[in-house]
Amino acid sequence: MAKTIGILGSTGSIGTQALEVIRELNSRPETAVNPHYAVKVLTCGANRELLLSQALEFGPEVLCTGREEDARWLRTELTAARERGESIPRDMRVLYGDEGLVQAAATKTDITLTAIVGMRGLRPTLSAIAAGNDIALANKETLVAGGNIVMRAARDKGVRILPVDSEHSAVFQCLESSFASGRNAVEKLILTASGGPFRGYSRAQLEAVRPAEALNHPTWKMGGKITVDCATMMNKGLEVIEAAHLFGLPPERIEVRVHPQSIVHSMVEFIDGSVVAQLGNPDMKVPIQLALTWPFRARSETKRLDLAEIGQLTFEKPRADVFPCLTLAYRALSKGGLLPAVLNGANEAAVELFLKDRLGFTGIPAVIEAAMNAFPSEEFAGAVAAYEEKTSSGLRAVLAADNWAREFVRRSVICQ
Ligand code: NDP
Ligand code: MG
Repeated sequence: MAKTIGILGSTGSIGTQALEVIRELNSRPETAVNPHYAVKVLTCGANRELLLSQALEFGPEVLCTGREEDARWLRTELTAARERGESIPRDMRVLYGDEGLVQAAATKTDITLTAIVGMRGLRPTLSAIAAGNDIALANKETLVAGGNIVMRAARDKGVRILPVDSEHSAVFQCLESSFASGRNAVEKLILTASGGPFRGYSRAQLEAVRPAEALNHPTWKMGGKITVDCATMMNKGLEVIEAAHLFGLPPERIEVRVHPQSIVHSMVEFIDGSVVAQLGNPDMKVPIQLALTWPFRARSETKRLDLAEIGQLTFEKPRADVFPCLTLAYRALSKGGLLPAVLNGANEAAVELFLKDRLGFTGIPAVIEAAMNAFPSEEFAGAVAAYEEKTSSGLRAVLAADNWAREFVRRSVICQ
């Protein structure tokens, strides 16, 4: 029987690679271990042409675009394709906007891949969980901002959150080595970081960095926002918070090591001193595939790892003085409450402004830190309580903190 899947953000870097994985898996004979994948939901922000071609290929039940006019355009194109004789389901629905996304995510599927970028993915993720869909989670900002709510909703509904992020997929695989001791055998997680394109830079060199340079990652090909996050090392900060939620560990038991070759995707140290690592050439299709095929492994055509060809694997401590974003993320995680949502919202707004050339590269951590310092926790005390108690009003609290942080950053940058 086919395994059904919804892909939120199917036109992005993760979304398109997931569809490549599905094409490959569906080209093989169907077995109980290797089911075929029936794509039921595809969504985009603005790239309606790509969404149309994906819809014509995969014939989903629901599509969603960012804007209403793009939804209208899609409906017209789909009607024209039907008239040309293409087999398109009559009941294919085309939705739009944030509400459309929440509705699209509520479509019942075996698994929903959350590959939208940013906090915008939080409500759709909760909607997919409420529908009882397992989650293949790429959209890390949802866990950073609303981790308590998401993990609680998943537990209550009995759905699995399967990590797509390569480091968390690595940890997930390494944890199998706990044997019967389970999480009690874990001493700490060691997340690896490539260090990004500016690994050896001084603070002065970072001052001069322009968007085009930050968008050029040495080992991974990704969407714009996460590529900038890698350059500031905020990506690793977000991943520390993501790991804390996924694996239930406190910040002091999550360590980061810079590993420029991006071959060791992360490690787990156990209480007996053994360290188990997961290795492979950098290729996101591997963790994407594992999240989709779990609890089975399927063959992949990825380039095989030849350690002799790589020659050297090196590791170093992150330079907190030059890349303050990682320290800010640890601080937000330790403080908890709504501070991670403030960190994330401020970062999203700052990266947007940096990409528009309205904020310098070193201005990103500066404005995030200013937002964290200025966050009026007393005013938000009720909201923090709601979030901590994980009540349904927790979502409103996260959205309010996120909004506050974005506004703070925009105001600070405009006033500069
Ligand atoms: P991309 O920018 O490549 O893709 C983002 C997706 O979200 C696209 O489908 C985009 O649509 C859609 N989107 C953007 N804005 C909106 C909007 N306003 N409304 C609805 N949909 C929207 O990002 P990535 O694929 O690189 O990253 C996706 C997530 O996965 C991020 O959270 C990232 O941190 C995480 N991740 C990514 C990795 C990678 O290798 N890329 C690795 C690990 C995690 P459109 O194309 O139309 O703009
Ligand atoms: Mg990662």
